[in-house]
Amino acid sequence: MDLIELKSEWTVYGVGIIQQSNVVREMAKLGVLDGYLDAAFAFEDVAIYGPAGQQLARIPGQRLAGPQYPANVGISRLALHKVLSETALELGANVRLGLSVESLEDQGDQVEVLFTDDSRGRYDLVVGADGLFSKVRQLVFGDTYTPRFTGQAVWRYNFPRDPQIDHLANYQSAAGNAGLVPLAGNLMYMFLTSHEPSNPWMAPATMAEQMRERL
Ligand SMILES: Cc1cc2nc3c(=O)[nH]c(=O)nc-3n(C[C@H](O)[C@H](O)[C@H](O)COP(=O)(O)OP(=O)(O)OC[C@H]3O[C@@H](n4cnc5c(N)ncnc54)[C@H](O)[C@@H]3O)c2cc1C
Repeated sequence: MDLIELKSEWTVYGVGIIQQSNVVREMAKLGVLDGYLDAAFAFEDVAIYGPAGQQLARIPGQRLAGPQYPANVGISRLALHKVLSETALELGANVRLGLSVESLEDQGDQVEVLFTDDSRGRYDLVVGADGLFSKVRQLVFGDTYTPRFTGQAVWRYNFPRDPQIDHLANYQSAAGNAGLVPLAGNLMYMFLTSHEPSNPWMAPATMAEQMRERL
């Protein structure tokens, strides 16, 4: 199996990710659940609070991977990448970095792929997991499906976990929503959504202040 990645370093950017019961179930099917759970913070419920902190709803988690496994997890994106990339290498994936796909030719029983370094390969199956601006999607569907900016932004900040945040805590108000997500014994992150229809560029040095204003 060949796995190609556009970036020249095989790493990921980002804070944490909430992975709910369907993902936990699929990690079990892939046989990576134990290493994955070791790197994650397991939690059960999702709670929704009003702006004054009053609980409006509590949605119990569903243990889809089996009763011995948690319903949901919060995990750092780096930790998730480590579990998945190490497993891919252990299983013998041939990882090629700094590379993209130039063209695909469906030959019926196989697909002929031309890569951007002029190398070629023939495959039974091509999977395009190349993100929002997917080149594979563009090669297969042309401009039929293109991303559209909806005006929503999300802000993130990591800080020490409060022991009360042992579940996904969502805070709703008329202005938007924020949440606290446990990531590890001593770590959680806050997310905050905001409406930014003009898609403004923000100087990194101003971002902490801008996030505070929106909070
Ligand atoms: C701020 C934020 C918060 C989110 N929070 C959550 C959450 O809590 N829970 C959740 O389930 N989802 C969350 N998501 C969504 C989740 O991150 C995406 O659904 C998921 O990452 C999509 O995976 P993917 O593999 O399709 O694409 P990506 O994760 O975008 O990965 C694409 C990979 O392909 C590479 N690539 C791109 N173009 C090419 C090319 N031409 N050739 C070769 N390689 C290429 C990229 O470098 C990258 O490594 C969030 C997204 C954002 C932006």
